[in-house]
Amino acid sequence: MQKRTDFLPLSRPCLGEAEIEAVVACLRSGWITTGPRCQELETRFAASVGAPHAIAATSATAALHLVLLALGIGPGDEIITSPITFASTVNIIALCGATPVFADVDYHTMMLRPELIEERITPRTKAIIPVHIAGAPFDLDPLLAIADRRGVRVIDDAAHCLGTVYKGKPVGSHPHVAIFSFQATKNLTMAEGGIITLHEDELAGHIRRLRFHGLEKLAWERQAKGGRPHYDVSEPGFKYNLPDVMAAIGVVQLSRLDEIVRRRTALAEAYSRALAGIDGLDLPPASTPPDRHGWHIYPVKVRARERDELMARLSEYGIGCGYHFPACHLLRYVRERYGFKRGDFPAAEQVSDRALSLPLFPDMTAADVDYVAGAVREILGGGRMSALPVPPLEDKP
Ligand SMILES: *Cc1c(COP(=O)(O)O)cnc(C)c1O
Repeated sequence: MQKRTDFLPLSRPCLGEAEIEAVVACLRSGWITTGPRCQELETRFAASVGAPHAIAATSATAALHLVLLALGIGPGDEIITSPITFASTVNIIALCGATPVFADVDYHTMMLRPELIEERITPRTKAIIPVHIAGAPFDLDPLLAIADRRGVRVIDDAAHCLGTVYKGKPVGSHPHVAIFSFQATKNLTMAEGGIITLHEDELAGHIRRLRFHGLEKLAWERQAKGGRPHYDVSEPGFKYNLPDVMAAIGVVQLSRLDEIVRRRTALAEAYSRALAGIDGLDLPPASTPPDRHGWHIYPVKVRARERDELMARLSEYGIGCGYHFPACHLLRYVRERYGFKRGDFPAAEQVSDRALSLPLFPDMTAADVDYVAGAVREILGGGRMSALPVPPLEDKP
């Protein structure tokens, strides 16, 4: 196979003239920080997922911080989450002074197994944070049943879920808190950004105050015509408000959500056809209606060969790849501070040892998919990889 000379990255934002014009219009408008464009984004986002409240923040990480603070989560509290997530989920739990508690995942979906969550619930458990992976919906109903029965809150890490539908309804429409990310590699982007959806008025008000110094009103509301510049602060808050110059991009991106997810789905399906039947390569499961997969990433797992070597060889072919995710219980500070060790969550560790994500972004071509699939086939079939022994895949009990 002829190697390409240009680089095919893991991801590239899908931005057009409309996004550029929206930024320029905002820059010319005289108001660039949080204001009417952020409000428009929140209103449209709430409507698009079917939640009464949507609150924008500077990132999904900041958004999770606001939610945990508003819920009063702190030292002595336990939060159950997945070892297969981005480090930020666990970082925020730790930064709030709470204790992260993990349960093992399903190897194929890479998501928490509700029956394993239940055994981790203690009187100290304040919340469960399921992590939807790759754009596939987490199977929420069994988890919500457990959480309701045990009186524990559910906070969705829906960073991968822009465009994801669970049982016919968008993630975020369910009556618990969900957090979405607009970071540069996510399905929609505004460079950075996050949105919280929720259904409780009082909690929404609290999160809004914590987002902006603890103030009741944004600068825009106080400084606009008829506003009152005075303020008081009843509780210290952060500076996590999303500027309008970014929200302007988000409004345009949101209007393109369907087009973007359709394109991602077509590319993912092309990968699944082109990579079918390669011995030792596990492909990500697709979703079937009434679910819809958002295809944020295309993660494969290499069983028969070593993952890091495949990554290095793909790089020789000019192909970038991602790693979603190193298991969080084995991150150094998490291991040292909370006493986790290898062997604690075997399926998560298998995912962590075997997963890599192939390039996936709307402006990729079908020829790019064929090139990547051809390279994977050539590398795995070429017999030049060191055949390191990998423990056999355990079946689900
Ligand atoms: C990207 C990501 C986050 C963090 O999102 P930011 O907007 O970058 O803060 C959280 N969780 C998961 C699973 C992610 O992939």
